[in-house]
Amino acid sequence: MTSWPAIADIANKVQSGGQRAEGLVEQSLKMVEDKQAYKAIIATTAKRARMRAADVDHRIAKGQRVGRLAGVPFIAKDNFLAYGANTTAASNMLKNFDAPYQATAIERLEAEGAICVAKANLDAFAHGSSTENSDFFTTLNPHDKSRVPGGSSGGSAAAVVLDMAPFALGTDTGGSIRLPAAFCGAVGYKPTYGLVSRSGVVAMASSTDVIGSLTRSVEDAAIVLDVLAGVDPLDSTTIQRQAGSYADLPIGLKGKRFGIVKEYMAEDLNPSVRKVITNAIGKLKDAGIHIEEVSLPSLPLALAVYYIICPAEVSSNLSRYDGQRFGHSYKGAKDLSESYNKSRGVGFGTEAKRRIMVGTYVLSSGYYDAYYKRAQIVRTKLINEMNDVFNSVDFLVGPTAATTAFKIGANSENPLNMYLTDIMTVAANLTGVPAINLPAGRSDGLPVGLQLMAPQRQDGRLLQVAKTIEELLT
Ligand code: GLN
Repeated sequence: MTSWPAIADIANKVQSGGQRAEGLVEQSLKMVEDKQAYKAIIATTAKRARMRAADVDHRIAKGQRVGRLAGVPFIAKDNFLAYGANTTAASNMLKNFDAPYQATAIERLEAEGAICVAKANLDAFAHGSSTENSDFFTTLNPHDKSRVPGGSSGGSAAAVVLDMAPFALGTDTGGSIRLPAAFCGAVGYKPTYGLVSRSGVVAMASSTDVIGSLTRSVEDAAIVLDVLAGVDPLDSTTIQRQAGSYADLPIGLKGKRFGIVKEYMAEDLNPSVRKVITNAIGKLKDAGIHIEEVSLPSLPLALAVYYIICPAEVSSNLSRYDGQRFGHSYKGAKDLSESYNKSRGVGFGTEAKRRIMVGTYVLSSGYYDAYYKRAQIVRTKLINEMNDVFNSVDFLVGPTAATTAFKIGANSENPLNMYLTDIMTVAANLTGVPAINLPAGRSDGLPVGLQLMAPQRQDGRLLQVAKTIEELLT
């Protein structure tokens, strides 16, 4: 099969009766099966997907308007609560969890006629950068099976690049959409914090968790965002969406000022990645785009700040998995306390336990001031620096990751090295700004990603310039 057409074209064809949703769902499920060797998928939702496709076709046959995503198949990262299969977050803790309701994101997509066909692999509870922390299996990179796809939304990114569906949902707490997008060669969009409801998504670090998409084009990312964005009474952190459509993309780059962050281009950037990024930036300059160097002096501290705040919030969010209301229940325990300990002992993998311990430590009295409080102070400083930079430029441009996809196993013995892969992505999460990964070229056959960022709530403008830059880079 050739690659999927643009999402808008698929939906128009289905809506006009030129293509049956049932056929699209079968096509998608066949790709999932044909590409099983990559281990991108935890489970399909085939039965429900077929029923929904029949319903879409039925409504269209009756002359009804189904919606902007009529019949478009998609894949959800398995930390989105969805009907049709268990929601596991790739953890033993939730292996048997059958969601009693669906995430708002899934509901909104379904309301426009989209059809979820499968649940994608991830690092358990979204903790990681490679999917190697999945309690089930590691997803393989579509370009080289000996390498990781990135994480934590590695299954979603691989699924899109392997043409299993036109788009996939991911979550991005510290880079989990953009990093796998960079490693697999997809467009990965992380909206402004709060723009998309997180109701029904397994919480990781609530002050940075964001929902977004993995797609093959900026145009597709914009359509998906247009369906997802906006206030949801079920998530009190949601913010107003922009008045117009996010999918209105045409725009020139004239008069736009871009900043290239000095700290992102420091020595630790892999030389072959640097070459691709410098080349891409050269193309932007050739097209007449104004690019100047800017500085975020606190940026080198962002990773340390993230790896204090994130585990602190993780340790709190994971406390609900007690084996009684939620999570793996340990049979045969002699009392509640043993059941609690065994449930958590068996249900959580090494990385979740590590984060619970680090998080509990940085929040404990005596250490709170030295770690958590100090991290919050630096986070505020970084937010102020980001605001200042956006007074002088409209957008930031730079690499998404310092390397290309690494070999499976290369970082698994060394969590600190694994954490370092997030060095370019965490700042957008700590400051809440929107960011996107665009495929920028290849190095030794492996994709390299270009990252763009904009001020908070400028998602529409970011997608517009990303579309123009995508054209310049292809
Ligand atoms: N890799 C980062 C981490 O392990 C980010 C994860 C994410 O964005 N979900 O925390």
